[in-house]
Amino acid sequence: MSKAMLQTAQTNIRNAATRLGYDEKTIEALLEAEAEHIFEIELNGTSYPAYRIQHNSKLGPYKGGIRFHPGVNIDEVRALATLMSFKTAAVGLPLGGGKGGIAVDPRELSSEDVETLARSYAKHLAPHIGSGKDIPAPDVNTNATIIDWMVDEYEKTVGKADRGSFTGKSMANGGSEGRPAATGRGGVITLVEYLKAKKLIDKPLTVALQGFGNVGYYFGEVLQAYPNIKLIAVSNSKNTWVQPDGIDIKKTAVESTDTPRPEQLADLQTVTPAAAADITSIKADILVLAALEDAITEINADDVQASIVVELANGPVTTAGEAILEKKNIDILPDIIANAGGVIVSCLEWQQNLADESWTEDKVNKKLEELLQKAAGDMITRSESENITLRQAAFELALERLV
Ligand code: NAD
Repeated sequence: MSKAMLQTAQTNIRNAATRLGYDEKTIEALLEAEAEHIFEIELNGTSYPAYRIQHNSKLGPYKGGIRFHPGVNIDEVRALATLMSFKTAAVGLPLGGGKGGIAVDPRELSSEDVETLARSYAKHLAPHIGSGKDIPAPDVNTNATIIDWMVDEYEKTVGKADRGSFTGKSMANGGSEGRPAATGRGGVITLVEYLKAKKLIDKPLTVALQGFGNVGYYFGEVLQAYPNIKLIAVSNSKNTWVQPDGIDIKKTAVESTDTPRPEQLADLQTVTPAAAADITSIKADILVLAALEDAITEINADDVQASIVVELANGPVTTAGEAILEKKNIDILPDIIANAGGVIVSCLEWQQNLADESWTEDKVNKKLEELLQKAAGDMITRSESENITLRQAAFELALERLV
């Protein structure tokens, strides 16, 4: 699966670079990581493979998350690091791209063992990271608590304070307001820019949303500012719920926390229990993919009924799936812009740390909106003027900054 994702990322880069007339040597250099740290962490007699891939630093320090998941492998980390370089470049951030992870199932470990693993990871990488070199962040199964442990270990190892060495920290430890909602919010900003450009923004529209975790939930919440755009279906890994009158997203959140609880939607009409994959073929104007990679492939692309697909997960549409969607005239808002809200607010957290400031949520959200409106607007204009897909336009804009 992760090999397919690496191939998809590399194909997108190769195609855009070829269209821009770059030679093979330039293209090869863009595909190759600048540094790969591959090591093992010993814990209770087990040895866990660990990675940090530093892909490209032309525009600034490497930036990218750290994933704790049994499926983590070198191809997956390489693919995600490559995508990060193009994402930061596509939105014009002063950052490069990297990614890291440990092949481990943290649910099988005690909290103490997760802490030991996190601290060992930060200690091993300490000479290679830092606010001016490489700034890791949370990703799948890592969170502010784990990042706080890593910052502490990193600072102890290098012997100096450096809050900007990681992002996604707790608020008490230098985190940023607005980070939890940032990726979902960015998805809405990107979609709204697209709908404005296509003169659809005031039309009644329906949305089906695959994946109802952090990103999907906040996408739904922020979307409520546009009452004409109605969320009619959501899914998680187990179920799909459909409510043609529109889903009240607030009812799905546990009171006093923002933790999404899709099971609270159980009173809605459950059309396809245990068939979550069906969400991709539901009749809606917009299909939002906020679960995992490879959600649309050559197997199910033909069943997509939406005319707009929004990629909030990384790599949710494969190259073969995309070719079919293209034939059906379905526009795809590509991941490197549509899910860039998270890395944008990470960048804002880093800038707050470097300036020793703490901005209000309003200020963070405004900056996020400005940056992403500009990036999405540039992508849409280029796609229209060159008659290329939105993804091709986004990769071309990124490539021009990287070469
Ligand atoms: P999460 O773990 O909070 O949520 C994932 C959701 O997807 C869960 O609701 C899960 O049940 C659902 N899911 C899993 N398999 C599914 C399937 N086959 N069908 C339908 N739903 C399924 O993760 P998240 O933080 O919301 O991230 C979602 C995606 O967005 C991931 O691919 C992640 O890499 C990407 N992403 C996240 C961020 C971020 O800031 N969190 C930023 C950029 C990209």
